[in-house]
Amino acid sequence: MSESTKPVSPTAHYRPETRLVHSGTLRSEFGETSEALFLTQGYVYDTAEQCEARFKGEDPGYIYSRYSNPTIGMFERRMIELEGAEAGRSTATGMAAVTTAVLAPLKAGDHVVAAKAMFGSCRYVIEDLLPRYGIASTLVDGLDLDQWRKAVRPNTKTFFLESPTNPTLDVLDIGAIAEIAHQGGARLIVDNVFATPIWQSPLTLGADVVVYSATKHIDGQGRCLGGMILGTEAFVAEHLHNFMRQTGPSISPFNAWVLLKGLETLGVRVRAQTESAAVIADALAQHPKISRLVYPGRADHPQAALVKKQMRGGSTLVGFEVKGGKAGAFRALNALKIARISNNLGDAKSLVTHPATTTHQRLAPEARAELGISEGFIRLSVGLEHRDDLIEDLHQALDKA
Ligand SMILES: *Cc1c(COP(=O)(O)O)cnc(C)c1O
Repeated sequence: MSESTKPVSPTAHYRPETRLVHSGTLRSEFGETSEALFLTQGYVYDTAEQCEARFKGEDPGYIYSRYSNPTIGMFERRMIELEGAEAGRSTATGMAAVTTAVLAPLKAGDHVVAAKAMFGSCRYVIEDLLPRYGIASTLVDGLDLDQWRKAVRPNTKTFFLESPTNPTLDVLDIGAIAEIAHQGGARLIVDNVFATPIWQSPLTLGADVVVYSATKHIDGQGRCLGGMILGTEAFVAEHLHNFMRQTGPSISPFNAWVLLKGLETLGVRVRAQTESAAVIADALAQHPKISRLVYPGRADHPQAALVKKQMRGGSTLVGFEVKGGKAGAFRALNALKIARISNNLGDAKSLVTHPATTTHQRLAPEARAELGISEGFIRLSVGLEHRDDLIEDLHQALDKA
């Protein structure tokens, strides 16, 4: 959680590819090419006076790595410039980012509206955790703008959504939902994990806050956890600064360094994975063992027009329903040789997930059915392997379904 990071050279005006490589770099006196990893808990001061000034906020240096750290600051600055946000703070995990962004600005008596199709743990925070602290929440069908409108109460402070949704890849109208939120005096927080900063910029579409699990595409190589919250200077100063300093959801400098280096290749990885995902979606769409396939970017996606309007590219994820329910899906999953069974996504390695028994097993069967998460539904996160190998692997596995 940095507070005082200034980039070596202002890079905010460069194109995204350049920002991914250069933004936020703080070069030390040794002139290193690759960003340094500052594995330090604390900092020392030249004098007691300097230390006092630092604590008073009159001297801009570092105090303690729960508050800020040069490596963490470089990661945050790169994310801020990539997203085009005014400010941001990183966290230990994506869930720490979601929980902090949602909870920090609220108090007992407030109300939250959220789209019911979301990552299982996000749904726990909104549906189970908030009400225990006197914060009411309403879950709506995120695709139905009327439901968002009708859910607004005088005490509604926050709207929360994910788009594309996990795992069914529905695409929600961020601009229209932001407008409804703002009319009701609420802020819109968007979990942009599935779209990645490469394909979607929620702040430009009208959202107030963006959250990431950096664990996914931003690392992209399955190594470490991390999260990020991005928004205005005012949001960070008013709602995050003290909350995060005192409650401590801080990221490790080591993980921030891994993620900082991950950002350098984020654009090329996400582009390659998306191109492969599009080809794989087309190759699977007509497979006789598949009853339904969803891919943002295909003309038959239920919100195809909206995908074109609010996203710059499709997705690295493909969703499909295997005939024969859970047994059929399990036979296909067990027969895969390259794509591995996992609950993760965004990795260089292709990963397959059975949401009904993993990420969404906590939900009642009716709640799953309502979200379109059937027993045969599989989420495929396309990696960096050769797409023809993946297609051959998927075909031989589906033949066994
Ligand atoms: C994984 C994920 C999270 C949580 O991130 P962690 O880093 O695992 O804590 C939140 N939202 C979405 C959409 C995710 O896919």
